[in-house]
Amino acid sequence: MLPFALSGAILLAKTGDYFLRKAVLVLPLVNMGELLNEARKGDWAVGSFSVANMEMVMGVLMAAEEKESPVILQIAEVRLKNSPLELIGPLMVSAAENADIPVAVHFDHGITPEVIEQALDFGFSSVMIDGSQLPIDRNIAVTKEIVETAREYGAEVEGEIGSVGGSEDNTEDIAVRCTSPEQALEFVAKTGVDALAVAIGNAHGNYIKKPQLRFDILESISSLVDVPLVLHGGTGLTDEDYKRCIELGIKKINIATATFNAVESRVRQEYQADRINGYYDLQTAEVNGACENALRHIELFGSAGKAFL
Ligand SMILES: [Zn+2]
Repeated sequence: MLPFALSGAILLAKTGDYFLRKAVLVLPLVNMGELLNEARKGDWAVGSFSVANMEMVMGVLMAAEEKESPVILQIAEVRLKNSPLELIGPLMVSAAENADIPVAVHFDHGITPEVIEQALDFGFSSVMIDGSQLPIDRNIAVTKEIVETAREYGAEVEGEIGSVGGSEDNTEDIAVRCTSPEQALEFVAKTGVDALAVAIGNAHGNYIKKPQLRFDILESISSLVDVPLVLHGGTGLTDEDYKRCIELGIKKINIATATFNAVESRVRQEYQADRINGYYDLQTAEVNGACENALRHIELFGSAGKAFL
């Protein structure tokens, strides 16, 4: 695949006829690694926003297009009971293909190999296999298998080692177990993953007490491991925490809880202000809530203006 960073394409992307642009440019659905490796050249990171419906997809892409930022759309396996993969998957992929900015479509916290493969069949450009609760040898073995499968699709894989606190759908209280830098090195070498989620005191969901991130551990991992690092449990970290993480090698930041919170609270505010008179006002409020949240994080992560480098 050609890199998205074609300078001649910038003009065309911004001014050209839609069909001409589609014919000449690479499709905006890109591999996660293309975005993350671009981010590694500078002090910025790509936001990976969880989506549950069309309104959230629209809101995130609206923000990314406005800010000319690359972006990742993601959904986690545990969320499929609310948003079935056969419905949301093609929607996400199609939205990415029709966007004016580079978009990767990512399957977050994959647990079941068959479901991960289904996501790949739908055209997801990357998948995560979360073997972090398994003993390391087992985690390496399952992750390696998913890497082999994903390669057949030309897709990429994110693995996780150590244990991010909480759980993706807030139903379990998994304790934080920080990633060992040496094990991270071994894991990446043995599995061939394209990105690595690390545990440095971060946790999923809303933080109950202020998180104390272990920047020292992050720094050691970065110095040993040569793949982009991923931060989960980003909701509730301070702006300074984010900046420091990005400087120390975090190139993909997952924003799940903040997206859901933003959409829900925007809808609530609009009702309270009596501005919702009918279904389509509700829909607009959802899109705007997702958009606002993505705009804020894109600015914070420094990815604004980086879509056509
Ligand atoms: Zn996560």
